[in-house]
Amino acid sequence: MDAALDADGNPVTIDQVRGLAVLPDLWCPGELPDGTECGAKVWATSLQSTKRAAAFAAHHGDGCDEGSERSKDIPGDAGHEHPQGTRPIQWRMRLGLPEPSTGPDGRRRPDSKRPGQLTRRYRTEPAQQEADTADQRSLSTMLVNLIAGTIPAGLELVIGTRDPVPADQVIVHARDATIATWLDTDLIIWGKVSGYTRTQWDGLMLRLVDAADQVAILVDKKNLARLQITDADTLVGRHVIAYGHYTLPEGSRRPHVRAAAASVAFNPRVVRRRR
Ligand SMILES: [Zn+2]
Repeated sequence: MDAALDADGNPVTIDQVRGLAVLPDLWCPGELPDGTECGAKVWATSLQSTKRAAAFAAHHGDGCDEGSERSKDIPGDAGHEHPQGTRPIQWRMRLGLPEPSTGPDGRRRPDSKRPGQLTRRYRTEPAQQEADTADQRSLSTMLVNLIAGTIPAGLELVIGTRDPVPADQVIVHARDATIATWLDTDLIIWGKVSGYTRTQWDGLMLRLVDAADQVAILVDKKNLARLQITDADTLVGRHVIAYGHYTLPEGSRRPHVRAAAASVAFNPRVVRRRR
């Protein structure tokens, strides 16, 4: 984990805490399968090491999407190295509604008492490179990594049942989200909320700072209810990320991205949870 959240919910990178005498209180930015914040207390590992990359660590909640990125070897693993190959890092986006998930040890969550048949640690032979080894990621966690600049180089995204695509072909900052390039495509857009207009169906049209062609994000009533957003004013100044379809309504010059179901997140989160 390369980024954590401070008490205000803003991202802090591992590089920003290097050299500090005392680590500030930090929390895991990850998301649990039900959409709530992991919020586990975070510490730093290998800060002084010249052999291992420094990182944040935490006792994550079950199903946290930051929990599986770097598996920590345990003593019994000594001598059991498995080739990882050079395949790119893949994130499988957690979009839509939560589904039953399987933990890194193959156990079905939340039934963690029943051992599974698979151990992820031993599934990385080259012959299985294309096997389903992508880490799951929520939009919320992706947003934290975008703001902190900790998106892995060469990242590929798996969205739904589509083939993996390079992240930079799908993710775009609002300032680059022009009609010319993105009209009628499905994309992940992010930026900072500068204001909003209510729609006639109790949704919000969010305006974004420096948005190309003044592209906005349409967040419907259901998405607002899921995020427990009752006061739209509180969104102004927050970062937002959404997955949806880039459209230009007939007769309008202002495009928008309509966030798909359960496919919008803010940073800092509007509702925080701490453990
Ligand atoms: Zn976590």
